Amino acid sequence: MSEKKLPLGHGELLELAHRLPTPFYLYDERAIVDNARRFVRLFDWAPGFTNYFAVKACPNPTIIKLLGEEGFGTDCSSLPELLISKACGISGERIMLSSNDTPPDEFKAAYEMGAIINLDDITHIEALERAIGTFPKTISFRYNPGPERTGNAIIGNPVEAKYGVTSSQVIDCYKMAKAKGAERFGLHTMVASNELDGSYIIETARMLFSLALRIWKEAGVRIDFIDMGGGIGIPYRPEDEPMDLKAVSDGMRSLYDQIIRANGLDPVEIYFECGRVITGPYGYLVSEVLHVTSKYKEYVGLDASMANLMRPALYGSYHHITVLGKDKQRADHRYDVTGSLCENNDKFAIDRLLPKVVPGDVVVIHDAGAHGHAMGFNYNAKLRSSEYLLRRDGSVDMIRRAQTYDDYVATLRFDGAPVTL
Ligand SMILES: *Cc1c(COP(=O)(O)O)cnc(C)c1O
Repeated sequence: MSEKKLPLGHGELLELAHRLPTPFYLYDERAIVDNARRFVRLFDWAPGFTNYFAVKACPNPTIIKLLGEEGFGTDCSSLPELLISKACGISGERIMLSSNDTPPDEFKAAYEMGAIINLDDITHIEALERAIGTFPKTISFRYNPGPERTGNAIIGNPVEAKYGVTSSQVIDCYKMAKAKGAERFGLHTMVASNELDGSYIIETARMLFSLALRIWKEAGVRIDFIDMGGGIGIPYRPEDEPMDLKAVSDGMRSLYDQIIRANGLDPVEIYFECGRVITGPYGYLVSEVLHVTSKYKEYVGLDASMANLMRPALYGSYHHITVLGKDKQRADHRYDVTGSLCENNDKFAIDRLLPKVVPGDVVVIHDAGAHGHAMGFNYNAKLRSSEYLLRRDGSVDMIRRAQTYDDYVATLRFDGAPVTL
């Protein structure tokens, strides 16, 4: 069981929801920082341990700076993510470009920033060289194990995955990179998403440690860092158990000794690129109930929609919902909780048991701190919501203002005058 916590009491959250325009995101600074420290402490045995926070999970500069102060790097997959990292004071090899299908200007920007470039394909060795006019001293490759691993629901089967170099390409990748003058080498994979079974992560470590040994034997290249990717899950459902990260760390440590140390490959630095497990549980979407309607089913209509939080509609994901001020009431009413898009999968929950809901109630949607606001969009011309941070001293700062109509139409032309291209 995982307890569904709120960052403030029901009364305080209600007061906040009445003071600030809903819907909005609220993040809990203390919880994020404590969690980031716990994560790093768990791997204190690992040489050079670093988590490169996946910017896509929560691309808010205030959050990224907070994590930067805890020693985190950033993991980027686009030019704007690289630029946001730089603007947050993250620099050099604290930035990782783990892209795929990469445009040349991203390679160039990453190289100029001194970021680690993690290549997705054997052909990208030359694509990178063409883009930057030289070859970097530090290079990493993303490995796709193919039939060796089974993957999981969100990320899919590795054989079907567009990412990474195959088992038969990987040795040539390192040989080629070495021939082009690379001196520092990384090995990366990302074969799970929202995984709660820690043994899956340990098996990924076994796979990468063994592969580092193979690369040493067959390509004569010593791996300097192993990047385990992201993909550690969080308990979205109250009945889910969080991953036992202590057991993961212990399991990885013993494999490190058996495979890396025993073969004289120590030290190999250990990195992760986790996003979800760092901020996911500590972000909340707060929304007001506009309408409660009775059709062939009972509906609760919120002022938030899937344009604010897409995961339930996109993956059928569960997000826990708390009706503020009704925690003492029995959850004996069955509702579909919807947004206002002209799209019937615009639902935060289907057949969810909640206390009796009335218009004007405020609900908190839990575990929205990663891949939440970030995945938002503008369909139906819905405007993106604001984001707030509950500070350690109890104050609340706006860390992103809500999008306005003017923002939305800023790229549009209303005058109809032709533009010569
Ligand atoms: C999405 C992604 C991550 C982060 O995944 P989480 O589930 O948020 O931990 C890390 N690395 C890469 C390459 C990704 O695509």
